[in-house]
Amino acid sequence: MEKEPEMKRGRHRRMWGRAGEIEEDRIDELLELIWTLREEGVSDLDRLLEMAQDTEARFILRLMVRDGLFEMEGNRMVLKERGEEKARELIRRHRLTERLLSELFEMSEEEVEEEACKFEHILSPGVTENVCTFLGHPPTCIHGKPIPRGECCARFRKDVKPLVIPLEELGLGEKGRIVFIAPKSHQRLDRLSALGVVPGSIVRMHQKNPSYVLQVGETSLALDSDVVKDIYVKKV
Ligand SMILES: [Zn+2]
Ligand SMILES: [Zn+2]
Repeated sequence: MEKEPEMKRGRHRRMWGRAGEIEEDRIDELLELIWTLREEGVSDLDRLLEMAQDTEARFILRLMVRDGLFEMEGNRMVLKERGEEKARELIRRHRLTERLLSELFEMSEEEVEEEACKFEHILSPGVTENVCTFLGHPPTCIHGKPIPRGECCARFRKDVKPLVIPLEELGLGEKGRIVFIAPKSHQRLDRLSALGVVPGSIVRMHQKNPSYVLQVGETSLALDSDVVKDIYVKKV
């Protein structure tokens, strides 16, 4: 196939030449922007237009309103059900891909960003669930932003062998690198970081019964099973 001339918009946008695809991708991008701005408590149109890396954003947004993806309440953009659902899926795929690429290939943040922006448009729902399961259903992306939950996150599955496992599944003497901690409270997270139990640190399972004892660096730590349940690791 003849290579289409590529036109880069912003960090990661490419045009592929076919009108249908251009619009779909550009709509996706704006939907994601609406979602991420909303996470920061921002929903006004002017701010979005400032942030959008698409010079035709205004035009595309009009198409999106026409298609019932969102509506305007004064200057505020409010996602409608269809837009909400679509944005949620895009964000979920984007943030899961970030984790996947950084856990599997240890890619830099910029490389991850570039690739994640492509994956979010092509991952099928089935593959997305497998990726999520493989990664241990991570609650946040590599930037600490929440990953919208999927159906898989509530279901118990054994058909995908996960890369990231709950710490409690580590065998005696086995080592794991902490990938994420999903604490029930902030205080708990602070306590753990004070002990050196943070994403990236290597822990060794020393004892499981009657209580958990972990080796972190030179120190042995006794942890409640309640706390251990919050920690997810990749075996090393
Ligand atoms: Zn992220
Ligand atoms: Zn999941």
